[in-house]
Amino acid sequence: MNTLRLNSKGPEVELLQSTLLKLGFYTGIIDGIFGFKTYDATIRFQKEFGISTDGIVGNNTWNKLMPYINGYFNYQIKENDTLYSLSLEFNTTIEAIKMANKDLNEQNLQIGSEIIIPFSNIVQTNISYTTQILNLNINSLQVIYPFIKNGSIGNSVLYRPIKYLKFGNGPKEILYIGSTHANEWITTPLLMKFFEQLCKSYTNNTPIFGINPNILFNEVSLYIVPMLNPDGVDLVTGYLDENSRAYNNARQIASNFPELSFPNSWKSNIEGIDLNLQFPAGWEQAREIKYAQGFDKPAPRDFVGYGPLTAPEAVHLYNFTLNHNFSLMLTYHTQGRVIFYQYQNYTPDESQSIANTFSKVSGYTVQNEPENSSFAGFKDWFIFYYKRPGFTIEAGLGQNPLPISQFASIYNENIGILISALIQ
Ligand SMILES: [Zn+2]
Repeated sequence: MNTLRLNSKGPEVELLQSTLLKLGFYTGIIDGIFGFKTYDATIRFQKEFGISTDGIVGNNTWNKLMPYINGYFNYQIKENDTLYSLSLEFNTTIEAIKMANKDLNEQNLQIGSEIIIPFSNIVQTNISYTTQILNLNINSLQVIYPFIKNGSIGNSVLYRPIKYLKFGNGPKEILYIGSTHANEWITTPLLMKFFEQLCKSYTNNTPIFGINPNILFNEVSLYIVPMLNPDGVDLVTGYLDENSRAYNNARQIASNFPELSFPNSWKSNIEGIDLNLQFPAGWEQAREIKYAQGFDKPAPRDFVGYGPLTAPEAVHLYNFTLNHNFSLMLTYHTQGRVIFYQYQNYTPDESQSIANTFSKVSGYTVQNEPENSSFAGFKDWFIFYYKRPGFTIEAGLGQNPLPISQFASIYNENIGILISALIQ
């Protein structure tokens, strides 16, 4: 974490503000600008937690904030502690404590031994969702939900790991993808929050959208790749250093397209290749269409690249898919509350009725893809290659990047899709 002080700016300030807000020290808006209200809240936090009240958020302050960012404490057992008393003290459940501490003997808690106490939700849904937040959240989820798996499908252009998470041990493999397009990054916290809710339901054995999570766990292996385009997301969210070579290179690319605002219009990977135009399913047609529209070189959006599967992020997703046996996939975008389910005449018969189910639970409209954007997407290739159901879900409404204030409504609209895709 970087040291933050008065006048600092950016997504880490948003994280600071949201954490101080959660704790009741901050009452301002989350704007990523370290002004006097943030300064004042920091001082009060430091005073309360017994560290020097300098108003500067360095290692000491970050360390004290970290449990509230991560959603769990490392706690030393005291005399007379029971799981029940701890669950009351930390406003959590006995099941959550037991899940996070696999070898714990609850009849015989050892005084002085350290346990993990999960006490709050993890995934932030009110701030810019950078790779830093993603990595923090994945690490915390792995600690308190040890039954999940996480890893990387490969690295981005800037060597950021493209992470995946897995829930369940069932034979039916399902794949969800978020943030293929950089300025559609709200799809990352959408998938992450859903994943967290799924883990929480499984732990507490409570239904999720009316479905028993134990059944899901045993029947399905859900893989999510919540941020396919980590470099692009960091560019749009302001986490990529503006003085870095990569940032300046992107700005140079964007300068050829002055009608597209920078960095807010950026969809591509950091080298200006649109990752949803990289797959070997009508790539030549996509090139023809996009070149004719003027996207004939690296661009903030719509440049197909110099060949299919030339951007590392697309290559890794392609290989990851080939190494699994996904029976269905969803890829999340944000372009106006629509569901796409077709690729030319390769669409399997069952896709339309599944799309209708998604429409029913979300209120989104099932549509035929416009001809000029119906080639070379990941969903297109998946349908073409496997003849299995694949869907593009366009969540939310408005100009990208959608404001994070839309999160709650987007989540509520999509929870039904995210669950029903698992039980098709
Ligand atoms: Zn998109």
